[in-house]
Order: sequence, then C-alpha cells, then structure tokens
Amino acid sequence: MDEKRCFLCGRNGAQDPLDRHHIFPGPYRKKSERYGLVVYLCHSRCHIFAKTAVHNNALKMRQLQRYGQLKAMREQGWTEDDFRREFGKSYL
Ligand SMILES: [Zn+2]
Ligand SMILES: [Zn+2]
Repeated sequence: MDEKRCFLCGRNGAQDPLDRHHIFPGPYRKKSERYGLVVYLCHSRCHIFAKTAVHNNALKMRQLQRYGQLKAMREQGWTEDDFRREFGKSYL
C-alpha cells in the first residue's frame, strides 16, 4: 500500500495535514481528477500559507503544472496540442 506523502517535501502529514491539490484548478479541476493530476501537499507549509507554498509561489505552481502536463501526455499518449485542447494551454 502506498503511504501518502507530500509531493514537494516528502513529509507524511503527521505535523501538518496533507491536502489534495488539483494541479489544474477552476474549470479544469474535474479533468485534473479524471486524469489523476492531483497531488498531496502539506496544508500550511507546501500548499497554502508559506512563501514557498504553491498557492503563494508562481514558480512552484508553474513547475507543478509542467510536471502535470508531462504526466498527462505520457500516460494518455497525448501530444502538446492534445494537451492544449484538453486544458486550454501548454505549460512546457
Ligand atoms: Zn491547491
Ligand atoms: Zn510538504
């Protein structure tokens, strides 16, 4: 069985509970769910509040989106254009 770990720092959520973060939010949230583009992140430290948390840090957010796009392209056999059609833009 896979133990849940923070995607960014590897902590297990004992101190700071893990949240599920949809890599592509808003209108693409459902598609993120469908294609498994969801990661666990420490609630404060890596997800919401810290300076380096993805919702506070455009670079971190962008890196995660790039990772999500590459994962989707690999797993679904999509080209960059296929991805753009599904998620509105390319993050590569
Ligand atoms: Zn989030
Ligand atoms: Zn973390």
